[in-house]
Amino acid sequence: MKNNEQKVMLTGVRPSGNLTLGNYLGAIKNFVMRQNQYKSYIFVADLHAITSPRDPAELKTAINDCMAMYLACGVDPEQTIMFRQSDVLEHGIMGFIMTFQTHMGELSRMTQFKLKSQNVGKNGIDTGLFVYPPLMSADILLYNTDVVPVGLDQQQHVELTRDLAGRFNKRYGDTFNEPDVYIAPVGNKILNLQNPTEKMNKSDGPNPGTIFLMDDLKLVRKKIMSAVTDNESVIRFDESAKPGISNLISILAATTGESIEAIEKRFAGHGYGDFKREVADAVCGLIGNIQTKYQRFKNPDVLDAILTRGAERARIVAAETLNRARVALGLK
Ligand code: AMP
Repeated sequence: MKNNEQKVMLTGVRPSGNLTLGNYLGAIKNFVMRQNQYKSYIFVADLHAITSPRDPAELKTAINDCMAMYLACGVDPEQTIMFRQSDVLEHGIMGFIMTFQTHMGELSRMTQFKLKSQNVGKNGIDTGLFVYPPLMSADILLYNTDVVPVGLDQQQHVELTRDLAGRFNKRYGDTFNEPDVYIAPVGNKILNLQNPTEKMNKSDGPNPGTIFLMDDLKLVRKKIMSAVTDNESVIRFDESAKPGISNLISILAATTGESIEAIEKRFAGHGYGDFKREVADAVCGLIGNIQTKYQRFKNPDVLDAILTRGAERARIVAAETLNRARVALGLK
């Protein structure tokens, strides 16, 4: 089902821990830069946050913090429909419907499932970890989304969404729009500064290799200055031979917009100390700015008003799509 109106862009973030520089450079920045060109939706993926048990009080705070952080990062609630996923009940039913379009083999092959199910607790693997991709598909399909800006780790899930939409359309008639993924050419996979073969992850908790958008700026500088590098002293982009330096080059390029080639050229003959200082200056400038704005947006009443209005607007579109799917399935 192709919509002939303005193109739609949607993205979401789980409120699990504070947002990281990776979340900003991989997803939020790309959304903010394009929010005027699309009919835009951004949501806090709170249902995805409970795929593993969470402390309710801590989750409530995390949801508000996440929204305030979106606003501080430049999401404009006049342009963009901002909402909490669980406020739009259609996500639950559509998630159920999409789960039934999915094969066990498809979910078992998801890289995120394979990675995250390696560290299981004594009760084994949470079902949520296995079945969250069809819920993510529902999140996307409910809004007739054309483009989903995400980091590289989520590409496979958006591709699954396309497959599920196509499968449903083939079985039951043209119902869903098949979305495209948008992966930023630079900054799509920011790596842990201490372990530059692993993704920088917000659920890792306090970590010398993870830059949180709420970190004290002195700590941010310290984390960058002590980032793992290599024994060469050449600033060159080579992800397999020089993962630490390449990660820092990506961070600088994605933060400032300068190209990787220009950075390599500019730092020819310089040492790692000079280079790291410049990365730290750029990142501290970016994060300092976000933190100043964050204080302005922390008011719970203001946030609640934005989210309530956003959910009302989102619900209208979600209900229409769900209705279409129910009719196609013969449920109505
Ligand atoms: P999550 O942190 O899993 O809720 O992801 C929210 C969004 O941020 C998704 O689009 C991810 O692909 C993106 N993202 C998360 N971590 C990184 C990272 N280290 N580098 C680039 N993008 C990321």
